[in-house]
Amino acid sequence: MIVLKFGGTSVQGPDMIDRALDICASRIDRAPVLVSSAMAKVTDSLVKITAAAEGGDAGGAARLCAELVGRHRDVAGAFLGGKNLEGACLKIEAMEKALLSLVKGLALLRECSPRSRDAVLAFGELLSTTLIAARARERGWEADFVDSRLFMRTDGNFSAAAPDMKAIAKLAKRKLKPAPGKILVCQGFIGSTAEGVTTTLGRGGSDLSATIIGAVLDAEAVEIWTDVNGILTTDPRLIPNAATIPRMSYAGAAELAYFGAKVMHPASIQPAVEKGIPVWVKNTGAPENPGTELVPVSQNKGPRAIAFKKNITLINVVSSRMLNAYGFLSRMFAVFEKHRTPVDLIATSEVSVSMTVEGQAPLKELLKDLQEFSSVEVSKNQAILCLVGKDLWEEKKFFIRVFSALGGIPVKMISLGASKINLSLALSAEHCDEAVKLLHREFFE
Ligand code: ADP
Ligand code: ASP
Ligand code: MG
Repeated sequence: MIVLKFGGTSVQGPDMIDRALDICASRIDRAPVLVSSAMAKVTDSLVKITAAAEGGDAGGAARLCAELVGRHRDVAGAFLGGKNLEGACLKIEAMEKALLSLVKGLALLRECSPRSRDAVLAFGELLSTTLIAARARERGWEADFVDSRLFMRTDGNFSAAAPDMKAIAKLAKRKLKPAPGKILVCQGFIGSTAEGVTTTLGRGGSDLSATIIGAVLDAEAVEIWTDVNGILTTDPRLIPNAATIPRMSYAGAAELAYFGAKVMHPASIQPAVEKGIPVWVKNTGAPENPGTELVPVSQNKGPRAIAFKKNITLINVVSSRMLNAYGFLSRMFAVFEKHRTPVDLIATSEVSVSMTVEGQAPLKELLKDLQEFSSVEVSKNQAILCLVGKDLWEEKKFFIRVFSALGGIPVKMISLGASKINLSLALSAEHCDEAVKLLHREFFE
């Protein structure tokens, strides 16, 4: 069997859904499982609905719900007829009722816990897949609709739930029966706890859903269908002529995703790596383009791509007693562990440690605890720029090229991955775009 995951823009209207189904149908002999995101911008609208409800704005939330459901009804009306239209409309109506009563309850309480938010967000994927399955039948294919919550078992860490691979493997074999000649349609992003409470895997989580399904069902391949020609040398929104990388290692793709390349969810590589399943990233709008193949090890040396993320905070921790002092680092990391804050980059000298954390880290709490044994300096509005490749510094001039390309742009911190696959720099967010452009020109143009 083969897994095809379509992102929001790939299913954003009748024409795109038809393209996605054409691609799926071209693989119908390989027992395709179609995993879909919500239609483009729908999850964002659902987030707005939860915010309106939390603020007690029941009217505003209901208006947004009506708009969102109306968009799905329009799509149904545009490409379904007869029984398929009738069936889809009934399902949409039932979901509308359920969504409205949930949102009304939240607005009355002026409360929206992560658990409630997940329950609301799940409607995006449930609505899109209802349309996709109905359209597949309308076009004459056999299609099964499966609610992913029946097999995507997770823990109860709402909004970023962790999949329970063992349970999923068991459940998926029972609930998902892919077969040549039919299209199996299910939702990305959503799951449920052992008690049956709806969860989500975190924003962008449909990629992870797809690789999990691929791993537990031993897929021959997982294809991530999106709106660009695979993984590119950098974000095409900043550099429109960024080029496709034809083959890339799992590890390189994981670094890129982690350091900001939105094209894949950072955790989505892991399930595929464990089973050695080939993952492809391809363009729904240009299926003939080969896109990118992720492979266990790539033979190509040198820089391959640049990722970046903004809204980073740089923390400098200085201990007056660090000279010859042991225990300082473990004490410092204990603070980050206590506040469940991941550290992205780190560089140490004899008396100080520099680190980066995401902008939304609980800074006040971290500082309070760190200041008990050190002095701390904080710079907000920073960025991380990450140059990913293989054996980067085997090329003698690599560093000279990096720093002469950057010219006068001040770099606040440098971190070399021990795996020799990345060089990461911290710099002020206002310099980030310019630095990416300069490095892209130096290494890829
Ligand atoms: P989907 O909805 O299909 O999951 P996303 O919007 O999550 O799509 O991810 C695709 C987007 O990722 C692209 O449109 C592009 O703007 C962005 N992107 C950022 N960095 C890269 C990169 N290195 N290669 C490809 N796309 C990238
Ligand atoms: N619909 C979800 C989101 O927008 C999940 C996904 O698209 O991967 O984050
Ligand atoms: Mg995505």
